[in-house]
Amino acid sequence: MTKNELRCMDEIERAFLIAEDYYGRSLQRCHMVQFSRRLKVTAGRAAYAWDCSPLSIKLSIPVMELNPEEFISRTPAHEAAHLIIAQVYGIETAPHGKKWKNLMRVLERDGSTKHSMKVVRKEYHYIASCGTPVTLLSGRHRNIQQGATYVLRGGGKITREGLVE
Ligand SMILES: [Zn+2]
Repeated sequence: MTKNELRCMDEIERAFLIAEDYYGRSLQRCHMVQFSRRLKVTAGRAAYAWDCSPLSIKLSIPVMELNPEEFISRTPAHEAAHLIIAQVYGIETAPHGKKWKNLMRVLERDGSTKHSMKVVRKEYHYIASCGTPVTLLSGRHRNIQQGATYVLRGGGKITREGLVE
């Protein structure tokens, strides 16, 4: 485990300890904390069973690598809070509702629900009609795939057919 991954583990345990003190009861820890390369935009995910026992927390390696300090100070506690709230209040409780937000205040961690951390941008490679290779990001790629044509300064055209798979 990397140093930052260990810091995430500490943040999760810290959240459970503070919550145990705050609610005056013991809380089940999750069976598994997974660091995933597959989560590219989502920072983390928490899963619990129908009886509200905690199953897992998944944390994104790419988002953590691009924003280590912000990630560590918000995401592990955010996900742990989901598992805590489910145990304390039951499965019907709103995931980012008042109870969850209150717990985030108790944990002294950011309770905003949409992160604005940097994420890995996916790139698409095209060859223009003049033979020039071009790299595009998802917005232009989407437009071109929907039929738009971009014209390079030299006159070459980038069209749907120019996509290099
Ligand atoms: Zn959440």
